Amino acid sequence: MSTRFEDFYRRSIENRDLFWAEQAELIDWQQKPQQICDYSNPPFAKWFVGGTTNLCHNAIDRHLAARADQNALIAISTETNTEKVYSYGELHAEVNHMAAVLQALGVQKGDRVQIYMPMIAEACFAMLACVRLGAIHSVVFGGFASGALASRIDDAEPKVIISADAGSRGGRVVAYKPLLDEALKQSTHQPAGVLMVNRGLADMPMQAGRDHDWTTLRAQHLNAKVDCIWVESTHPSYTLYTSGTTGKPKGVQRDTGGYTVALASSMPSIFDGQAGQTFFCTSDIGWVVGHSYIIYAPLIAGMATVLYEGLPIRPDAGIWWSIVEKYKVTHMFSAPTAIRVLKKHDAEYLTRYDISSLKALWLAGEPLDEPTATWISEAIKKPIIDNYWQTETGWPIMTLCNGVEKQATRFGSPGKAVYGYNVKLIDDATGEELTDANQKGVLAIEGPLPPGCMQTVWRDDKRFVSTYWSSIPGRQIYNTFDWGIRDEEGYYFILGRTDDVINVAGHRLGTREIEESISAHAQVAEVAVVGVADTLKGQAALAFCVVRDASVVADEASSKAMEADVMKLVDSRLGAVARPSRVIFVTALPKTRSGKLLRRALQAVAEGRDPGDLSTMEDPAVLSQVQQRL
Ligand code: ATP
Ligand code: MG
Repeated sequence: MSTRFEDFYRRSIENRDLFWAEQAELIDWQQKPQQICDYSNPPFAKWFVGGTTNLCHNAIDRHLAARADQNALIAISTETNTEKVYSYGELHAEVNHMAAVLQALGVQKGDRVQIYMPMIAEACFAMLACVRLGAIHSVVFGGFASGALASRIDDAEPKVIISADAGSRGGRVVAYKPLLDEALKQSTHQPAGVLMVNRGLADMPMQAGRDHDWTTLRAQHLNAKVDCIWVESTHPSYTLYTSGTTGKPKGVQRDTGGYTVALASSMPSIFDGQAGQTFFCTSDIGWVVGHSYIIYAPLIAGMATVLYEGLPIRPDAGIWWSIVEKYKVTHMFSAPTAIRVLKKHDAEYLTRYDISSLKALWLAGEPLDEPTATWISEAIKKPIIDNYWQTETGWPIMTLCNGVEKQATRFGSPGKAVYGYNVKLIDDATGEELTDANQKGVLAIEGPLPPGCMQTVWRDDKRFVSTYWSSIPGRQIYNTFDWGIRDEEGYYFILGRTDDVINVAGHRLGTREIEESISAHAQVAEVAVVGVADTLKGQAALAFCVVRDASVVADEASSKAMEADVMKLVDSRLGAVARPSRVIFVTALPKTRSGKLLRRALQAVAEGRDPGDLSTMEDPAVLSQVQQRL
């Protein structure tokens, strides 16, 4: 007998149109779709063709009748020590003000609006106001350097850019306006208007005729009512860049109807979430997780959402959990990188607060290693649920669909394929499908991609086809560029990115497998393994480690002893073939601004090559340290 989830999943693949027609009932349509999926021009999939809807209407307006007074947005900043709660009614009013201001600045359906902002409520108003008007937002992570911003401005060609005087991180103010002004000097495209939110944190020089002050314009539109513009289901809602972990970021284009349906269905089916509950996602609106699970999905579901500006450890490592207590957070969503930050602190901070409202903690963005999962699970005594997806997909590809049926967690695995995703494991040399359990292969998705996934690369259909659909020999199938393994019960294990496979003397090893074994060492806080060219073995593994307590690697003798210890651990867990040729101790690892390990940069430096595009890197000083210690 098949389980409830198996039936649900099978129907989503075998009875695709019927299945998604049912899910489409979860949202409001101005005009119902005439066709569920048009896949007549693969790999381009059009979802809910003929339907018209509006993302902002589904996130706000349709809730007003039932929950105008309920919490919608809880904006907390431990940087400015401010906290403000907006009800659905208040959020509706603010989004109307913003939409009216954007209209006054000339923004119309199809225009792009770039949002370069810190984690403040106005950023949320801005995103929602754009989709209200059918304008296409393009959020650029706040604090990106001018060069990265300039190239995104030229790609999106925004009519208006919305920004703020400054962001703040760990008490350090980062002035945005000079970065934006510099970017606008570098970019070819110039916007008609720049809308500035003044938080009073930094100087904000204004250019007359181009730059406008939000507070002033808002005051002129306090009674504004801006109707939602109904757009075709396939109308783009936004563009967003991938994290740039493997190279130049890709501009992902998302539709409206498919995305709204996918998110609306994910809340009950994946997260087991309902209207009236509170979702706290610690990501940033600059990333896909922030788009989907800070802003859109919780609001579409009628939940309250927490927008948090600040570090997870400031004023101390208990801050997130105090928010859970105060607002009775039911769902929390974070990333392994943040948990590793907490792990450097006393677990006692996490248990000071009453977190009984919390159902589970979801983590995504990077492999969730078992020691980290175990640590956080013991610290908060809640289910820890890994979920695997990409900017490209917009919502999880693999996780537990606990709303459909309770599924058992397996540490090290993000669970089974989510409904709608026809996931395949492919032999990367032959393109053949691997159907047996426990075979390693490239994770791929048979088209059409389900609703919510990318429509194309912004203004570059060719790149969409050549990047994602042409790279597996003999197959027209979406390549995730990750590789993995599936066990007898359909649980997947992500082994790393396809270009992170190390080939040591003919043995193919995932960097993740080696990292996992090293991070089991009690003294290891973080580790990155890369393969570097080796004349003898083809490639050798190098391990870069951050230790919890610097005194264990304070001098050469203790470093040597620690290195031997780490090597022994790998030998015992994976075998000598996987043993790193060197273990190098550093105080930090190079990361993207979204907190992902930049292995390609480590590898390039280790091989004495040019590390390439580093515009997405968090802290360049980290790489110089690596260079010194090599
Ligand atoms: P780019 O595509 O520009 O190189 P990126 O792949 O890091 O950057 P994102 O879309 O932010 O950009 O990240 C998606 C990738 O993150 C996945 O393809 C996978 O490699 C990794 N990832 C995300 N979630 C998980 C997870 N739960 N387990 C393992 N890996 C994950
Ligand atoms: Mg990627």
